[in-house]
Amino acid sequence: MNLHDQVAAAFAEEGWLSKAEPHFRPRPGQTAMAVAVAHTLEQGGVLVVEAGTGVGKTFSYLVPALLSGQRILISTATKALQDQLFLRDLPRLVQALGLPLRMARLKGRSSYLCLHHLAQVHQSRTPHDPQLLRAVARIEDWSRGTRTGDLAEIPGLAENSAVAAMVTSTKDSCVGSSCAYWEQCHVNTARAQALQADVCVVNHHLFFADMEVRDTGVAQLLPSVGAVVIDEAHQLNETGIQFAGWVLGTRQLQLFIRDVLADVNLHARGLANWMELLGQLEQAINQFRALGAMGGEAGTRMRWLGTAPEGLPDKSWARAIHLVGQCLRALVMALGQVAETAMALAPLYERGARLLAQLASFAQPVPDDAVRWLEVTRQHLRMSESPLTIARLMRTHIAPVEDTDTAPAQGPKAWIFTSATLGDDADLRWFTETCGLRDAQVLRVDSPFDYAHQAALYVPDGLPEPAQQVAHSAAVAQLAGDGAAVLGGRTLVLTTTLKALEAIGQHLQQRFGLLEPMDVLVQGQGPKHVLMERFRTGTVHGRGCILVASSTFWEGVDVPGDALQLVVIDKLPFPPPDDPLVEARSRQLEALGRSPFADYMLPEAAMALKQGAGRLIRRETDRGILVVADSRLRTKGYGKRMVQALPPMHRIGTAEQWQAALERLAQGHLPVE
Ligand code: SF4
Repeated sequence: MNLHDQVAAAFAEEGWLSKAEPHFRPRPGQTAMAVAVAHTLEQGGVLVVEAGTGVGKTFSYLVPALLSGQRILISTATKALQDQLFLRDLPRLVQALGLPLRMARLKGRSSYLCLHHLAQVHQSRTPHDPQLLRAVARIEDWSRGTRTGDLAEIPGLAENSAVAAMVTSTKDSCVGSSCAYWEQCHVNTARAQALQADVCVVNHHLFFADMEVRDTGVAQLLPSVGAVVIDEAHQLNETGIQFAGWVLGTRQLQLFIRDVLADVNLHARGLANWMELLGQLEQAINQFRALGAMGGEAGTRMRWLGTAPEGLPDKSWARAIHLVGQCLRALVMALGQVAETAMALAPLYERGARLLAQLASFAQPVPDDAVRWLEVTRQHLRMSESPLTIARLMRTHIAPVEDTDTAPAQGPKAWIFTSATLGDDADLRWFTETCGLRDAQVLRVDSPFDYAHQAALYVPDGLPEPAQQVAHSAAVAQLAGDGAAVLGGRTLVLTTTLKALEAIGQHLQQRFGLLEPMDVLVQGQGPKHVLMERFRTGTVHGRGCILVASSTFWEGVDVPGDALQLVVIDKLPFPPPDDPLVEARSRQLEALGRSPFADYMLPEAAMALKQGAGRLIRRETDRGILVVADSRLRTKGYGKRMVQALPPMHRIGTAEQWQAALERLAQGHLPVE
């Protein structure tokens, strides 16, 4: 039986999935996707599948992938999704199939304990902070028993904590094969296992790190696999451009100073005036940072079209960057001179030389096909340069696959990209264009949910214009509060800006004070997982729950059941026009004679709206109302295109119908008869 037939049989009524999985029910969309994936795995090529919520796309690609006998690389968006796939979905299917498949999960090096750095922290007896010392002791204890070295095994240890940064490596701070812990190294072990596995699960960050060979000395995964599956592919471009570009910040330079200080003390004490060299560099970095901070408050992204970021004097900027370069060069030269005798300093010399080259590129004008910006945080400056899309990068890896005559003997022959939202047109151009997949085969599989009955869309009339921010936010809060009052909470408010988040959160918290039976949770007022846990629980001791959130919550909330019945979106989520990347993409389209609004801003907004709306219905039994509190959906010509991108929900036309739908939901009925 060929793969296509095996897969069709597996998903059929009475097939082995029905026998192995108690909850499995054959769904035409899921089978269609699985068969298409099987076909691509057999024939090679590129398949892009938009599979609506509830299709069960994970099984649709896992079953053919596992049955294909090929080595498969699967990439998903986040470490949490990676863990879910590796710990839950994959083992279930591998066991049901009874195949002796080796599975591996590979994360980035910052996820793994670096034994060399742990030993350094121990020897140097830093940090002095007792809380940090306790955390280091805890890690030392755990390090004696762990097999994977994955810091996620330590409960409560935040990934971005100071102590995690101290005991992990970066590609720059790893000392490579001269490391005393090379044999036991957790990073090396995880990579070796990944190279031997039949199925390896990575995340998009790592996928691009591997594609770009940014991590020297590591064999690439990509050439050794037969097929690649990219899940949550809508995040690919966003993640990829970070890797395809350059980032250089004052934090990187300061970490370099820290590592040089530690190593020269051990290996080259007295061979150069290290204190003076390091002190001068530190001072130059501080001046550079102070100058950058003059351009904007913490959190700002400053445009950088000419020789300096906007708002900063060209000459002062050039002087500051030049001074950092001069001090860095002096340090690198000193390292180069001693590296011949003190071999342990060679990696630091190379790292310094790379930093210097990056700094030099930021001293040059911005290339035409890239965008550059400066970010100011509370403590640091970060210069970034990025291509406008990952199209060119992806084409260098995928193009040969499409031409079977020139396809390399090694490397993936089949590429499958999937997500619940990949475009608002039949060709899924929003996705395929940014990823350079113009000739891909495209498949759209509709959600099996009965949206027309399960969900209703309400675009209220008579609200203030979105441009009247203060009045608009107050009106949205009023509307969401009214809905939540009828439903006993169960309301998620998604905002497009942090200002609106604060304003709407404040209005709702004032309205539902402590004595009201309602908890109003606002993003930023607690850790995300704590807010989500409370919201998912629904009504607690008679208290309902409203969650007001922005940014990552637009696509990161999965609350099946009655805990979520009302989603209120404050405005159409157009990309901020003054964002440097958005500006640069718009300029590029204009230069090509295309419309930045129709070809970029509108599809971006439609995709984001679709993501936000997707929070409402997660199961076949869910029901609810989506409110888009933006009159432009009614009044503007493009409103129709945006509504069409949404699932086919029943349309509520008036305030009376909205009230009636709320009451029906509160009584446990569908929102409309
Ligand atoms: S090889 Fe690199 S990552 Fe591994 S223990 Fe040594 S320094 Fe750390």
